[in-house]
Amino acid sequence: MSSRLALLDRDGTLIEHVHYLSDPAQVRLLPGTVEGLRQLRQRGYTLVMVSNQSGVGRGYFSIEIVEAVNLQMQQMLLASGAPLDLLLYCPHSPQANCGCRKPNPGMAEQACRHFQTTLEGALVVGDSDCDMDLAVNLKLPGYRLGSPQLPRLDLLPALLDQT
Ligand SMILES: [Mg+2]
Repeated sequence: MSSRLALLDRDGTLIEHVHYLSDPAQVRLLPGTVEGLRQLRQRGYTLVMVSNQSGVGRGYFSIEIVEAVNLQMQQMLLASGAPLDLLLYCPHSPQANCGCRKPNPGMAEQACRHFQTTLEGALVVGDSDCDMDLAVNLKLPGYRLGSPQLPRLDLLPALLDQT
């Protein structure tokens, strides 16, 4: 159980949702992100971002933009003592029928390979239907951020203690 995965959405979960975010200057951590990530790490979770970035496949922005936004977020998290362990994203459009676009399991499988672990004990956190569908597809507990049950990420540990 030393390397159970917390699979975390990016937009609307770790940072403020901006429609097709394409500017690192627009990255804002959500209230509760830093403390939530710290507490998840304390509980033995490996922190993995899994993000759909179909704006690339749709031609709205480049891979370099996604990487720049991710780097900005990770630097902010690092400065707060709560860096992610792995940042994964799917750049494909829905029409590409790839295996990595949530709710498909590709990014979760990639995280397992990266850390040479399984999904045992893992969980999914996100703010969208596709995140919850990912949890269903992976047969993992899914926690919906922004729901009455979980308005902020730093309230997740208390929720985990109840279950
Ligand atoms: Mg989201």
